Amino acid sequence: MSATVLIVEDEHAVARGIQYALQQEGYTVAVARSGEEGLEFATSQAPDVIVLDLRLPGMDGFDVLRRLRAAGSKAPVLVLTARDDEFDKVVGLELGADDYVTKPFSLRELMSRIKALIRRAYGDLADAAGGRVIRHRDLVIDLERRRVQRGNRRISLTATEFEILRHLASRPGRVFTRRELLELLRDYEALDQDEKTINVHVSHLRDKIEDDPSAPQFVLTVRGVGYAFAER
Ligand code: CA
Repeated sequence: MSATVLIVEDEHAVARGIQYALQQEGYTVAVARSGEEGLEFATSQAPDVIVLDLRLPGMDGFDVLRRLRAAGSKAPVLVLTARDDEFDKVVGLELGADDYVTKPFSLRELMSRIKALIRRAYGDLADAAGGRVIRHRDLVIDLERRRVQRGNRRISLTATEFEILRHLASRPGRVFTRRELLELLRDYEALDQDEKTINVHVSHLRDKIEDDPSAPQFVLTVRGVGYAFAER
């Protein structure tokens, strides 16, 4: 899968090294040079993993972590700490860091820690081949194995619910009318051809994947038209 990793680090050489190593492995990488910038990116773009240096000008790593968790972000965070700085580590883990690496570190070590974090956070879907997995925030849709997860939690969908989700999520932002969805599902299951049938399935789908089905963040209603999957 092509996970997005956010690196929050003001030291160019360190950030560049990590960025290069991650890109070599096929990850999408964003770099923020300050805590403010990192927090902004993390809350608006929902990266899959965050590599966070503690020593940053202005808002430091502790502040970023605290505010990130307060804002409800559940993205795994790997903290970079200064050498022999035990206090940093303890406080960092208490604040919601998932792992830490002490500088100077080897890139190989860092890579294996990042991969472990992704596996831990996103389960076995993390190993699925790129392109066959659709991810949005912590929702993971494995098209090949027809599996859906929120974080580590497996979600069991009916065939119809999965197909609706698959069609919508394959083209985020594209609005599908109920009629269109019925057509797409026709070959799949003998559905009642009343368009209201779609509403019922979408409602069940939301009950399973949304935190609050009345305020969906994945499957959105486009009033008077139909449904669309949220854009990243
Ligand atoms: Ca730094």
